[in-house]
Amino acid sequence: MTQEAHKVVIVGGGAGGLELAAKLGRKFGPGNIFLVDKEGSHIWKPSLHEVAAGTLDIHREGLSYPMLAKDCGFTFVLGEVRAVDRAARTLLLAPVTFEGCEIFPERSIGYDTLVLALGSKSNFFDTPGTAEYAVALDSTEQAERFRQLLLRALVIVDRDQPLGTARVLNIAIVGGGATGVELAAELVESCKNVAYYGLTHLDPAADVKITLLEGAPRILAALPEKVSDAAHELLSQRGVTVNTSVKVAAIQADGVVDVQGRHYPCDLCVWAAGIKAPALLKETGLPVNPINQIIVDAGLRTEDPAVFAFGDCAQAPWNGTNKFLPARAQVAHQQADFLIPVLSARIAGTEPPSAPFRFKDYGSLVSLGHNRGVGSLMGVLSGKNMFVQGIVARLMYMSLHLMHHRAVLGLVRTANIAIGRLLLKRSAPRVKLH
Ligand SMILES: Cc1cc2nc3c(=O)[nH]c(=O)nc-3n(C[C@H](O)[C@H](O)[C@H](O)COP(=O)(O)OP(=O)(O)OC[C@H]3O[C@@H](n4cnc5c(N)ncnc54)[C@H](O)[C@@H]3O)c2cc1C
Repeated sequence: MTQEAHKVVIVGGGAGGLELAAKLGRKFGPGNIFLVDKEGSHIWKPSLHEVAAGTLDIHREGLSYPMLAKDCGFTFVLGEVRAVDRAARTLLLAPVTFEGCEIFPERSIGYDTLVLALGSKSNFFDTPGTAEYAVALDSTEQAERFRQLLLRALVIVDRDQPLGTARVLNIAIVGGGATGVELAAELVESCKNVAYYGLTHLDPAADVKITLLEGAPRILAALPEKVSDAAHELLSQRGVTVNTSVKVAAIQADGVVDVQGRHYPCDLCVWAAGIKAPALLKETGLPVNPINQIIVDAGLRTEDPAVFAFGDCAQAPWNGTNKFLPARAQVAHQQADFLIPVLSARIAGTEPPSAPFRFKDYGSLVSLGHNRGVGSLMGVLSGKNMFVQGIVARLMYMSLHLMHHRAVLGLVRTANIAIGRLLLKRSAPRVKLH
């Protein structure tokens, strides 16, 4: 009689989950490692602001999960997890449909070890009007939708210019964290490029107004003040209006209103303020915090010995302090690496290493469009934050994405992709126009 393989099921093939599945898949193969995702292809989420601005084409960027499964040696299961039955150690997957046709029925999948890496979504904090008038950048569909709304709005402004009826296009971004700041910079570039490709009546500097609204006294509040100041200055130089200490009370059809009743006109509003984990996690019966993140210990273990959680969907302690790790790709990446020996031991039936996860903060980089970036890096020798900016910061930012590809695809294929993209850039428009 053959012994059944220990089944590790990872839910969520994002920044953390995919790296974990790829690395474990190479080690153990498809009989042991299963990855479940509701999407058919993977995109590195920190790229979504570039998709929204049209400076990155999702159809070129996405990596197909079935391809990755074949190459990395895991089993891919397409479907949205609806429920977790911890007593029966099974997951319930919603039916997969396409244009009303059911492709896969509702199914269940069993596990010996479950790893939850479902990421997070925008937190609207019950702000009135967000569902109707604000776009979030949680998925490729939302980012693509925003890009198309933007393109339509720009074409209308350009069309109406000669008629003398054109209005200024106002874009408001709520949230001055990395996502909001990067999006603002990318939009400046994208509007400039759209004008370059045929919208000859449009003057992006005069006809498009981008406003960034941040509740804290400074943007990039989680980063050192020097980084905030540099980003603020760069955005201002590029014509972005940065308003800090603005607490948004509601989004309306024609603008954003703050708690003091001030009105910021806007035709397009992006919500990039705060996150929350999927509500499904609350229903697992495991302890969660007020934003639905599963509470894990320093070993990324939940209360249930068969269930681990990491990345944005988990609240994990920050290196023995009473603070919690931030929702960042860098954290998810390091946690995935931490879990490899732990899960390998579970598969082999041996004692897993007992050392806790320790986050090494290598600093934070923020992209501010073409050839620009700012950030702080942890000095290797000094152990202190070093300020970096300009093209060096931008190149280092781009290398983070390549590092993710390397973890998933390996060095040679990542190098091929990087060279391919460089060559494609020379034959494609600088912004996606269709
Ligand atoms: C626009 C933007 C810019 C960002 N920029 C940066 C940055 O510059 N630097 C940085 O460090 N971080 C950045 N972040 C944050 C970073 O993207 C996240 O911290 C990181 O992606 C978290 O990784 P994760 O694996 O936990 O989740 P994710 O990468 O979000 O992956 C979650 C996966 O779970 C899947 N999933 C969700 N629910 C289900 C379900 N019920 N069933 C099946 N599958 C499911 C999703 O399809 C997805 O593939 C940015 C985020 C955004 C939105």
